[in-house]
Amino acid sequence: MTSHLSQTKRTSGESSSEVVSWQAEMKRAIRSSSDLCEYLHLNPEEVGSAENDFPVFVPLSFAARMQPGDPQDPLLLQVLARMEESVEVAGYRADPNGEAHAGLSAGILQKYASRALLISTGVCAVHCRYCFRRHFPYADAPSGMEQWKHSLEAIASDSQIEEVILSGGDPLVLSDQMLGQLLKKLADIPHLKHVRIHTRTPIIIASRITDSLLAHLNSTRLNIWFVIHANHARELDGEVLAGLSQLQQIGIPVLNQAVLLRGINDSEEALYQLCKRLMEAQIIPYYLHQLDKVAGAAHFHVPIERGRELIAAIRKRLPGYAVPRYVKETEGEPSKTVLA
Ligand SMILES: *Cc1c(COP(=O)(O)O)cnc(C)c1O
Ligand code: SF4
Repeated sequence: MTSHLSQTKRTSGESSSEVVSWQAEMKRAIRSSSDLCEYLHLNPEEVGSAENDFPVFVPLSFAARMQPGDPQDPLLLQVLARMEESVEVAGYRADPNGEAHAGLSAGILQKYASRALLISTGVCAVHCRYCFRRHFPYADAPSGMEQWKHSLEAIASDSQIEEVILSGGDPLVLSDQMLGQLLKKLADIPHLKHVRIHTRTPIIIASRITDSLLAHLNSTRLNIWFVIHANHARELDGEVLAGLSQLQQIGIPVLNQAVLLRGINDSEEALYQLCKRLMEAQIIPYYLHQLDKVAGAAHFHVPIERGRELIAAIRKRLPGYAVPRYVKETEGEPSKTVLA
């Protein structure tokens, strides 16, 4: 990949004001349901908010896109801890995908052929209430070169692996310098061709796409792919799309994955608007995930039949490439299962 960036002379990496600003956004994030309610002028009791062992974490840059006074706001519902989360529902487990067994503690997860998922950090830029990893012992997740060593060795010793997926947590909470180091180590592995970055951070904090990040992505021999995570059109405001467009300008394909969530995007109009917005930004709607049955998230469940109806409905209104594959994770299967 080449662009104007490689020709621009740069002083050493991390000093731009943008870097300070995304890290400052992380520092001043809202960290409790009560603070989030107060920020949005909501009565915590009326909205059924709660505090629990998966604490609220929402940067103000994301909270600012919520509608004050609206307890049903689709962005709010994704991040506000609620009393429903403590209700035990049969069939909802702490580890629905059996990932604890697939090697999470080792920092690498290989369920599918030719690609491996590298747990780069346990930290995220937001805490999503439906997340299937909410119960994981993330304090133990490897982060930093010492801890990645084992994962890198595992990848280097398996020449079948052509693609590494940087996941977590969220790799873009790492500093540009650390990401740059990791990319260098990965580029030294001769059989690797692709690095896919699974991240929600640029949706939460648009300024995360810094010049020094772009420079690292632009100078590696590896093919870089971005898979972002947005569930509702309102997450994709002008600033977010401007950040992502800088990736596209240096030739990086950007795809989106969403989770089908009750009350958030389980209507034809909400899904249609999400895909339309992505399409207008030349972002491919890659996957729509059926919710994993993780304990605490049962109130987000949408029946598969309803999901299929929604996909059929938007397929009538959008070009084929703008309709995501509706998929489900099944333990022990060699790929995700396509539902529609
Ligand atoms: C979803 C997933 C992948 C990526 O699958 P693709 O279908 O290639 O997007 C890789 N590893 C794990 C463990 C996954 O859950
Ligand atoms: S950003 Fe991704 S990994 Fe992190 S809490 Fe949200 S869904 Fe889970």
